[in-house]
Amino acid sequence: MIQLIRGFKDILPGEVELWQKIEREARELLERFGFREIRIPVLEKTELFRRSIGEDTDIVEKEMYTFADRGGETVTMRPEATASIVRAYIQHKLYAPDPARRLYMVGPMFRRERPQKGRYRQFYQIDAEILGVASPLADAELVFLLTSLFRRLSVADVEAHVNSLGCAACRPSFRHALQEMLASVSDRLCEDCSRRRSRNPLRVLDCKVPECRAALAAAPSILDHLCTDCRRDFDLLQNALAALGVPYVVDPRLVRGLDYYTRATFEIQTGALGAQSAVAGGGRYDRLIAELGGPDLPATGFAIGFDRLAEIAGLNPEELRPQPDLFLAALGARARQAAFAWYCRLGERGIRVAMEFGEKSLKSQLKAADREGAAWVLMVGEEELARGTASLRDMRSKRQREVPLAGLVDRVAAMLTE
Ligand code: AMP
Repeated sequence: MIQLIRGFKDILPGEVELWQKIEREARELLERFGFREIRIPVLEKTELFRRSIGEDTDIVEKEMYTFADRGGETVTMRPEATASIVRAYIQHKLYAPDPARRLYMVGPMFRRERPQKGRYRQFYQIDAEILGVASPLADAELVFLLTSLFRRLSVADVEAHVNSLGCAACRPSFRHALQEMLASVSDRLCEDCSRRRSRNPLRVLDCKVPECRAALAAAPSILDHLCTDCRRDFDLLQNALAALGVPYVVDPRLVRGLDYYTRATFEIQTGALGAQSAVAGGGRYDRLIAELGGPDLPATGFAIGFDRLAEIAGLNPEELRPQPDLFLAALGARARQAAFAWYCRLGERGIRVAMEFGEKSLKSQLKAADREGAAWVLMVGEEELARGTASLRDMRSKRQREVPLAGLVDRVAAMLTE
């Protein structure tokens, strides 16, 4: 038997209702705040991710599904959404005439990471971006939307972690201070960090290897190096969050795994997830649009780990299971033919319908109706056909009434939708 690929998974009925509910809530919330959906391709030119995410990142160094297609072009299955959204923003000139755009997408991402709980090779993200807006209020809004969504989905223990990564004016001085410090502990760093120490020292702050974390205990804080503008924006972000009552902590070690971030970065963490504590992350990327060949415009965004959110949402999938309004139980071929026509027509009219197509006893059909949680059962056999009526049973009260066959669809549809 052929099994699915390691790190990939099926989302089966029973679980999928939870995913649908989360997606509905997210779309509703984002659209209320003016975000519009964008659908981007799963495959892009590899160059797009190399240039945006950065060469010295885990994603680009070792996690991308990259291959030559049959025409010899090197393509990559998207590991994240921001790069593609920015590409589309530039390619379709979505910045004109007004650069401010709010876009969101929902869909699968691909990273060849080591599979473990909460870490998959195909996983899903809900991604939102505010492009063309420089104000830190946009960052505050994104953090607010995340915490608001998670509250609606009854996620326990939510905490926003925020940091500023500075800008082209102030980050170099921090980078230098960090590099000096890293040189003094170079013999204690893992292989990846030793390599990144000179080229991409900020990434070392993000290393999960315990020895590296210990070696970095005395690392300088970016917050001591922020320029006046970055300091002001970071204060504005915090003031806005405090005024909204969003619980947050300042985490100067928060650097995130992609190179394009500037200024505000944030993560939503929850104790409910164990080691993989981040359920969402994002931040500002004021240089990326220009770096990918577009105009010099700022932007900020977030990505929610959908799989992780589904694991910790405090909703009961049982309660989300769709149940038929009406189960049609027919006895005999003629009755089944009549019932089948009603089944199709009633489904078309907005009633959730179910029916057994095989020859089954009434008892077994009633059992099936009960198992599926049907609210009503319409029963019809040879006798009822001859009489010109069918029996409609309320499964809760077990009370039954007769419904004339003439005009049955209109009558039942009206009864069940009133
Ligand atoms: P990133 O795009 O790396 O900033 O990730 C944003 C969010 O996506 C993270 O906070 C995770 O919740 C989720 N995520 C990232 N990688 C994976 C993965 N391999 N499996 C499941 N969720 C992931």
